[in-house]
Amino acid sequence: MTTRAQQFPTKAGYYGDFGGKYVPETLMQPLEEFEAAYRRLKRDPEFKAKLNEILRDFVGRPTPLSEAKRFAAHCGDFRLFLKREDLNHTGAHKINNAIGQALIARRMGKQRIIAETGAGQHGVATATACALFGLECVVYMGEVDMARQELNVFRMRLLGAEVVAVSSGSRTLKDAINEAIRDWVTNVRTTHYIIGSVLGPHPYPMVVRDFQSVIGKEALKQIRKQAGAIPDVAIACVGGGSNAIGLFHELIPHPSIRLIGVEAGGRGSALGSHAARFSGGTLGVLHGTRSMILQDENGQIAETHSISAGLDYPSIGPEHAYLQSTGRIEYHDCSDDDAVEAFHKVSRLEGIIPALESAHAFGYLLRHGREIPDGSIVLLNLSGRGDKDVPQVMQLLNKER
Ligand SMILES: *Cc1c(COP(=O)(O)O)cnc(C)c1O
Repeated sequence: MTTRAQQFPTKAGYYGDFGGKYVPETLMQPLEEFEAAYRRLKRDPEFKAKLNEILRDFVGRPTPLSEAKRFAAHCGDFRLFLKREDLNHTGAHKINNAIGQALIARRMGKQRIIAETGAGQHGVATATACALFGLECVVYMGEVDMARQELNVFRMRLLGAEVVAVSSGSRTLKDAINEAIRDWVTNVRTTHYIIGSVLGPHPYPMVVRDFQSVIGKEALKQIRKQAGAIPDVAIACVGGGSNAIGLFHELIPHPSIRLIGVEAGGRGSALGSHAARFSGGTLGVLHGTRSMILQDENGQIAETHSISAGLDYPSIGPEHAYLQSTGRIEYHDCSDDDAVEAFHKVSRLEGIIPALESAHAFGYLLRHGREIPDGSIVLLNLSGRGDKDVPQVMQLLNKER
């Protein structure tokens, strides 16, 4: 069994040509301090015991592995197992990372947490962790997103977080990230910045991956027990890439497992209509890391579109860019329409309403399931529950009428 892929990143934070630390000088030292604290705590038995206790008693881990027989039969002739991250407290995988980083911040003596959020999911997970630990929490959010995600804004405020409206630029996620970085530069002595996906400067992509790799560790053990074998195929949706790398990290050393990441194909292949970084992107630097980016010929960041807010981001985690370049993970797109169809099918056939993000992974199976060899064992990461998306899908149906 090889573990080559697991040795990444390099000391400077690179995964092949991707990754690194493209930040203002003032942030170099805090990033090093964060990395040193993380490396120390990772081996600290007391820290590990505390993290595991919270994951068990507060988050609800281990999450179950459920066989989805009716949806599988609809798509092809394989067995399908769902890793149920939708059953975590707060409804998705993001809490795994928020708890881990908040725990590090507390051990570093930082009493103030900042975060940025697009759809509000990472903001809610961070506000939850801060409430649990009694940390001050400030969440930056674009004004446009705040209007679209009113309920999550209220949720964060209920949890005691301050939500700051960002009115610069397109007033969405990338502007909120710029604002959070500005805050961090100013308040770095007292403040830790919790990034929500495998993005940003080193060590974030590594730290977030490690906290999310609990998904794959549990799933591998569970599928061995429930299916009597390791999977032939594993599949996950990819926004920044944290739920996908969380599932895949443990599986990468097993060369027989085919790994599939599914990006948002949106409304079509024109720049601006999707968030498919591998079919439409080029190499560039955004928000502190070098990766595949949707940009125009002048290097201006392109507009993106996806029906699911969590997949709607112009860049992708650098480790994904690396694993795509080596061919270890293959990436495909799923359109808005296929994702919505899958959302309905999974609800009706399995009694599970999936997040629209996760519906992209199911959408791939709807369209390509017949290409999977008969009798295969397929493992799919059900990254979150769809309650948050019900109003949006209801609106869609009303429009069609
Ligand atoms: C945020 C989110 C995603 C996308 O983020 P990744 O970092 O790519 O995992 C996917 N699914 C759900 C339910 C989310 O909330």
